[in-house]
Amino acid sequence: MTRLFNNINKLKGVGEKRTKLYEKLGITTPYELLHHFPRDYTDYTQITAVIDAPINEYSVLKGTVVKKLTEQRARSGLMIFKAIANDGENDFLIVIFNNYYAFNELRVGKEYYFHGKIVGDLLKKEINSPHIISGDSKELFQPIYPLTEGLTGKMIQTNMKACLQVMESEPIEVLPNDIIKENNLCSLMEAIRNIHFPQSKEMLDRAKRRLAFDELLKLQLGMLMLKGRNKKKSAIKMDGDANMGKLFEAFPFELTNAQKNAISEINADLCLDVPMNRLLQGDVGSGKTAVAAAACYFVYLNGYQSALMAPTEILATQHYNTLSQFLGPLGVEVCLLTGSLTLKQKKTVKEQILNGEIGVVVGTHAIIQKSTIFKKLALVITDEQHRFGVAQRAALAEKGGSPHKLVMSATPIPRTLALIIYGDLDISILNELPKGRVKIETFAVTGKLRERAYNFIRERLDEKKQAYIVCPMIEDNNNDLTAVTSYAQALQDNEFRGYNVGLLHGRMNSADKESVMNDFRNGRMDLLVSTTVIEVGVDVPNAVVMMIENSDRFGLSQLHQLRGRVGRGKAQSYCILVTDNANEEVKHRLRIMSNTTDGFKISEEDLKLRGPGDFFGEKQHGLPQLKIADIAGDMELMRITQIVAREIIAEDSELKLPKNSGLRIEVIRLFGGSGENSLN
Ligand code: ADP
Ligand code: MG
Repeated sequence: MTRLFNNINKLKGVGEKRTKLYEKLGITTPYELLHHFPRDYTDYTQITAVIDAPINEYSVLKGTVVKKLTEQRARSGLMIFKAIANDGENDFLIVIFNNYYAFNELRVGKEYYFHGKIVGDLLKKEINSPHIISGDSKELFQPIYPLTEGLTGKMIQTNMKACLQVMESEPIEVLPNDIIKENNLCSLMEAIRNIHFPQSKEMLDRAKRRLAFDELLKLQLGMLMLKGRNKKKSAIKMDGDANMGKLFEAFPFELTNAQKNAISEINADLCLDVPMNRLLQGDVGSGKTAVAAAACYFVYLNGYQSALMAPTEILATQHYNTLSQFLGPLGVEVCLLTGSLTLKQKKTVKEQILNGEIGVVVGTHAIIQKSTIFKKLALVITDEQHRFGVAQRAALAEKGGSPHKLVMSATPIPRTLALIIYGDLDISILNELPKGRVKIETFAVTGKLRERAYNFIRERLDEKKQAYIVCPMIEDNNNDLTAVTSYAQALQDNEFRGYNVGLLHGRMNSADKESVMNDFRNGRMDLLVSTTVIEVGVDVPNAVVMMIENSDRFGLSQLHQLRGRVGRGKAQSYCILVTDNANEEVKHRLRIMSNTTDGFKISEEDLKLRGPGDFFGEKQHGLPQLKIADIAGDMELMRITQIVAREIIAEDSELKLPKNSGLRIEVIRLFGGSGENSLN
């Protein structure tokens, strides 16, 4: 069992140069090459008759070479090789540029498949630079691999065949036999053979199912192992008798039932001596902060400290204000710890944290994590989790022993999916918005209606309400920056003269950002023009209009987040989506936005439209990347593998049994790259 794990340069046909190219694709061993799966296939069973082959499209033609013509040299120096072939009915011309080798291989009288772009006219069709395989080939599904410059599909195919030969002499299988049988899977070797060189469509499907099964199973095993390890740690146990009544009376509102449930689930966890590891998922505006405040208060009543971390300073400051407002009057010392404090301020605050004076520390992620030492930290809360990955989640776990952990996410994701992505967490869901919220009215308009939209906004401002206008800044680039800046200026000078227009973007320093946000929060500013830094979490209930420029540039979930900045109070709120680029897909998206405000529905649609890769992005979910399985599409497989994973872990929590050794290696490999989250 070693040749597969040798350096790839030991493989027949792979020299130094190719080794480098493979490295670029992240492939260093034959085993990894075997797992370099095709991104698609050319299906040579789908033959088109010459007469039917559409001009300017790709087709597969099957024909016998009738005659090879003399080569020509174009003025550019390009060599052009041509041959005439016939598909039994009609002639067509094969045109090959510069590739003498391919042309030379063609034999008159022999039959071939040709895959390429059809050009010419209806009477005389040509197939350009076709991919050619022999007419008696059994490999009628040709893999199309992700490539890198200098490495062709042909090269990969040749090396892959050598790899497969090595595999035949060193059989591999990672699943225990009974699992293979019970789930009607093919063997791993058969799957690998067929994913690269499928014998038929059916075999290809079987191969995909087996490989997707493995991926999802490994993923879930890894998560369950993390969860299991967490349960073995010990945490500070709270006393359930602490009386929360004072806080509930102090809230300026009645908690929703969903909030109450979440609070009791959290408090129950806090009373155990294993660390809580819980996700609080709730749609925008569902009131996650109040739940966080309750958890901090519970911990405070027990005599311990909590930390609440936010991804940005704006949010940290906002949470600090909210928590001080809720908890301050009850005697809890709340402090703010962010990068913009002076060194001296930081020092003072840190001392107070260390000597235990402070009950709740609110701050940005980096600051709290780095050098802050707590006297008796019991609970760490992370807001807007979807910005962080599994790895960061695990990193936090190490802070001050094993505190209880609560992560709050505003990305509503379908439950099945949440179980995968947050498989190592327990989940509480806020599936109910506070009473009295009015549904946000959403309109999609073209730029022609911009003036009317401005009018509409002015009317709201005259009612002493506030509004946002968001401009996308896709990359952190200077042109976009100039664009928002001058847009804000133009509005101030023209349409919104006499109103106070502010500007917020990511390149501003924290002090400036904070002062803009403060002005807006306190109502000194009427209209805030912003890039998407405003996206997550900002809570100004008096803002009632969210206008989004170039809304076609945003995905559904992001639009939903942005829209969630309004409709946070009792007043009717509005969302105006502006676009001049409404193709069918954009229209579909904007229609969904206009029709529903349910975050779960929206994220399901988003997932369907974009696929899980784009939806989460590897960086965002922090999970190992999946090659074959489609998290959104393979729900059934997900369900099955979840059951299987639970059974395996119930019997063998660390995969130490001999029959699970293959799986163990694979799971470690899959999670190996996830830093803190590694399972080594
Ligand atoms: P999110 O879940 O998006 O983080 P927030 O915690 O920012 O939501 O809460 C949104 C707004 O709703 C805040 O202004 C908050 O004070 C208010 N709020 C929270 N809970 C309730 C409730 N039960 N009833 C009425 N308003 C509430
Ligand atoms: Mg929030």
